[in-house]
Amino acid sequence: MASIFSKIAAGEIPSYKVAEDEKHYAFLDINPVAKGHTLVIPKREVDYIFDLSADEYAELQKFAQKVAIAMKKVIPCVKVGEAVLGLEVPHAHIHLIPITKESDMNFFKEKLTLSDDEMANIAASINGVFEK
Ligand code: 5GP
Repeated sequence: MASIFSKIAAGEIPSYKVAEDEKHYAFLDINPVAKGHTLVIPKREVDYIFDLSADEYAELQKFAQKVAIAMKKVIPCVKVGEAVLGLEVPHAHIHLIPITKESDMNFFKEKLTLSDDEMANIAASINGVFEK
């Protein structure tokens, strides 16, 4: 059975799409720890990120870099932080999180509640400056 993230990448489950190419998909985390919190996935479904081939891993990071560059242009932050956990959803994904201080990367803190409009606007603004 396809993972929830495969269904998102295929458009079968809605998401706030940030960017896409042939092999990768980026979308807003539904429970963001910061505004613009984005998940980047390979479309090929692999659970553990380090089970990707070396080429797939490099391509995923290259795509994530482009997404992070776009995020930094439109979301006020000092840097975009990157994290990989993968304990909840068994489809490899990179968290990209705009940060101004260390505690912005805290996955235990209360998640933000953003309106549908706000999420859509954030995704569209990142997508608007994303360069393939
Ligand atoms: P992890 O597996 O890295 O521990 O966490 C999975 C992440 O995926 C969480 O931050 C969670 O909020 C996010 N997530 C889980 N299900 C969905 C979903 O259906 N849509 C979106 N956009 N994010 C999800």
